[in-house]
Amino acid sequence: MHVTTTISFQSQLPGDRPEVRFKDHHPSLTEREAVLEARRCLYCFDAPCQQACPTSIDIASFIRKISTGNTLAAARTILSANINALSCARVCPTQVLCEGACVYNHRDGSQPPIHIGRLQQFAMEAAYAKNAVASLLGDKRASTGKKIALLGAGPASLACAAELTLRGHQCVILEQRALPGGLNTNGVAPYKMKADVGLLEAEMVLGLGVELRTGVTVGKDVKPEDLLAEYDAVFLGVGLGPDGRLAVPGEELAGIIGAVELIDQVKTRGQPLFEGVAHAVVVGGGNTAIDVARELRGLGVPEVTMVYRRGPEHMSAYAHEQDGARHDGVRFLHWHVPVRFNGEGKVSSLTLARTRLEDGRLRNVPGSEADVPCELVAMAVGQGTLKDLCTAFAGVDFRDGHVVVDPDTGATGNAKVFAGGDVANGGKEVVNATAEGKRAALAMDRMLTGA
Ligand SMILES: Cc1cc2nc3c(=O)[nH]c(=O)nc-3n(C[C@H](O)[C@H](O)[C@H](O)COP(=O)(O)OP(=O)(O)OC[C@H]3O[C@@H](n4cnc5c(N)ncnc54)[C@H](O)[C@@H]3O)c2cc1C
Ligand code: SF4
Repeated sequence: MHVTTTISFQSQLPGDRPEVRFKDHHPSLTEREAVLEARRCLYCFDAPCQQACPTSIDIASFIRKISTGNTLAAARTILSANINALSCARVCPTQVLCEGACVYNHRDGSQPPIHIGRLQQFAMEAAYAKNAVASLLGDKRASTGKKIALLGAGPASLACAAELTLRGHQCVILEQRALPGGLNTNGVAPYKMKADVGLLEAEMVLGLGVELRTGVTVGKDVKPEDLLAEYDAVFLGVGLGPDGRLAVPGEELAGIIGAVELIDQVKTRGQPLFEGVAHAVVVGGGNTAIDVARELRGLGVPEVTMVYRRGPEHMSAYAHEQDGARHDGVRFLHWHVPVRFNGEGKVSSLTLARTRLEDGRLRNVPGSEADVPCELVAMAVGQGTLKDLCTAFAGVDFRDGHVVVDPDTGATGNAKVFAGGDVANGGKEVVNATAEGKRAALAMDRMLTGA
């Protein structure tokens, strides 16, 4: 176990990790560009962009502050709603959230919606560059003497811990990995955000006075009942479980790897990857499948094919992400499933069968099997759950792939235990995890102080 109170995680990232080869799809705005863009905003009353934001950032207000050159005040407005605002500015699917709701979408089409994400990024980068973020959050309240354990150091726990710390509670985050940030550090596509940005944000939260213990796997190194005995409250922010598998023959061959595991290698480790890989196959149809396919192309794999068992209209990946993958040269093979992986020790081809719907059920078409060459297969067929860990906390219920919580508070069936983020919503976005972490912190504060 490693206990951290002063923080320098960014320096632990290998400088030669593959993700550094990616161009940034979110370049920063200059001040002039930001002010000009901010002046396009109509500062709508009951702004639909704010209503579409899970953290309810007062978007019209922060954009107005940018338009008058008051950038740090803009950052304060943003941070008062969303502590993970730097990462959200980069990774949020703004097309379907704030920018998708902007009134410009319903005008004559002559102007695009306001680039809210880029304006938020501009304000937050200015605040980080001036080392002003902690001061923008205001003073911490006097210590309450209450101790809270938070499981996992992803966006949900970081948002929860920041709010609780500002309210005078003592927070300890237990994280199994060496680096904090959760999927913000080791999952998000590198062209959206590199690992050091996720770490910078995590370091800021830790700088508020949150203790982080890395290399601690709750359930293995620490027992849930001991945490319940030692702490006044517990927050479950452990996210989803490991990559899923299909259980088809040959899946144990080398060269077949879970998508999240592969992305982690790209983002945080320094090994040379994918050398000699001419064909890679990505199995799945969600956003993670798209991300891994685009990352493989970006790292120079000549042929990347996405294999999905149904049609394009059934894919859960956002349309704009699918377009991005096509633009990057990813090939799509719909209505196919893997039936066998082939190779001696290492995968060299994949046998696929065609699929079709019969009476509403998906079936393989008899006699349709064919081989495709591949030296690498990324399995993006969903992640498992951490049900055993969560239900080891007495009274915590788990249903339909997530912890059962009161959606207004994150409260579980155990009065001392709250949950938020992917473990409680089944897997959404960073901004949802942030909103749920903060919401749970407010409810925990009420529970702990009786306010
Ligand atoms: C490949 C990929 C790409 C994504 N891209 C985007 C994107 O572009 N935009 C977006 O908004 N969202 C994206 N998401 C979703 C987003 O990353 C998650 O919704 C968000 O990170 C959830 O936050 P969390 O804190 O609930 O969980 P996580 O970020 O998963 O953090 C959970 C933490 O808990 C730790 N943990 C787990 N078990 C234990 C244990 N037993 N003991 C101690 N620690 C433990 C984990 O190591 C991890 O650090 C992506 C997800 C994936 C998988
Ligand atoms: S909806 Fe668009 S124009 Fe209106 S306040 Fe939000 S960003 Fe500005």
